[in-house]
Amino acid sequence: MTTWIDGHFIAGDVALDFANTVFRRTPEQGSDLLDSTESLASWFAHAGLPAGGTLAEARELRSLFWRIFDAQSEGADLPIDALGNLLLAARSDAVAVDADGIPSALSGVGALPTLALRALRLALKPPSRPVRTCDRCGWFFLDTSRGRRRRWCSMQTCGNQAKAERYRGRDHGVLKTSTRS
Ligand SMILES: [Zn+2]
Repeated sequence: MTTWIDGHFIAGDVALDFANTVFRRTPEQGSDLLDSTESLASWFAHAGLPAGGTLAEARELRSLFWRIFDAQSEGADLPIDALGNLLLAARSDAVAVDADGIPSALSGVGALPTLALRALRLALKPPSRPVRTCDRCGWFFLDTSRGRRRRWCSMQTCGNQAKAERYRGRDHGVLKTSTRS
């Protein structure tokens, strides 16, 4: 079972955080952090939402999120079939939407539909801070940096690892040069 920490919730939007429930989303779809119904329930608890839905439903919804947010972060048109399925997933009697357009779940039954509504909100009314993917792990985040140039989900993890790799790359370069001479 996954122990969720604040480091799993760095995206700036709960729908993106939900999309980021894989350890390494790209390039090879790393290990799935939504590995059990218990992990799903505790994810909702950490996100401050009522828990509900099955693991299969959650993963299916998440795969829709990947397609929508991948397109968004690439500046491409949204895949219309995924958007249609997201609308279907959002349909529920157990959700409420306030005057500001913020959805919430009235019970566990409305948990996944609420996430679907949050994703639709992000898809149809994109914030001024663009949706980006981490260069290293593929996690999504809202780019709140001043220059809109943020490249990593987190400087503590991917940012530092990317730096370390660059240094190692530099060492290799030196080695290559010295063996050649
Ligand atoms: Zn990352």
